[in-house]
This record gives sequence, C-alpha cells and structure tokens, in this order.
Amino acid sequence: MEEILTATAKKCRYCGEPLKPGRKDKTFCNDSCKSEFNNNKPKLPEFVTDINSILLKNWKILKDCLGDKDKYKMRVRDLNGRGFNFKFTTAERINDSDGLCYYFVYDMGYLLLDEETRVLIVQDDMMVRLTGPAYTI
Ligand SMILES: [Zn+2]
Repeated sequence: MEEILTATAKKCRYCGEPLKPGRKDKTFCNDSCKSEFNNNKPKLPEFVTDINSILLKNWKILKDCLGDKDKYKMRVRDLNGRGFNFKFTTAERINDSDGLCYYFVYDMGYLLLDEETRVLIVQDDMMVRLTGPAYTI
C-alpha cells in the first residue's frame, strides 16, 4: 500500500504528470520525457566541471586514506603524492573546543599538524565539534 502511494505521489521530472506505479526509482513517465529532460539540461561551464573533478578526486583521496578509521594521521607530502590538491576544499570550519581550523571537502576533513608537515584526516564531525559558522571558499 505504501509503495503505491509513493509511486502515485511522485511526478515526472520533465512534464510534471503524476507517475504511474512502477519501479521505486522511476522519475520519468517514459523514455521520451527522460531524453527531453536530459537534452534540455543546462551545460555546465568547463571550469565548473574541472573544479568538480578536482573536488571529487580530493574527496576520494581523503576517504581512501581514512578507510574505516575515525581519524588518520599522515604526512602532507604523502597526501600530495596521491594527487591531493590543497587549493580546493568546500569549507573551512573552526573546532569549538580548541579553535583549530579544519578544511573540508564535503564531509571529509583535515587539520594541518606539526607546522603543516602532517594532516589529521576526519570525516564529518565525528572528531570535531563544528557548531561554529561555516563559510565556503
Ligand atoms: Zn513525463
């Protein structure tokens, strides 16, 4: 019953008509609406897609280095060696308890340690109390 209600409440992303019951992830009436939607999507400027690629690469590197640990320390030069680009982050956050600045790429963050020779990698706010204001850079 819930499945049917969900399907009937959803609308086609292109024409806005209510979707007939079908696959749970269905978002278009048919292939025609899907291709019209995709053909009319605004193209992002190249510099935006380039920056998005760098951010995604940075995020993956931090995620890989952290693995399933809560925090992970490594040398800055090793992070550089993996292709991490320190010029691209999505936010800087100040930790409330010690006032230290963490740099984030989406939910993956790092803190520069030991005169910027090592980093402490964290995810989201598991290690940091980030109740202060955030700003994007
Ligand atoms: Zn449609």
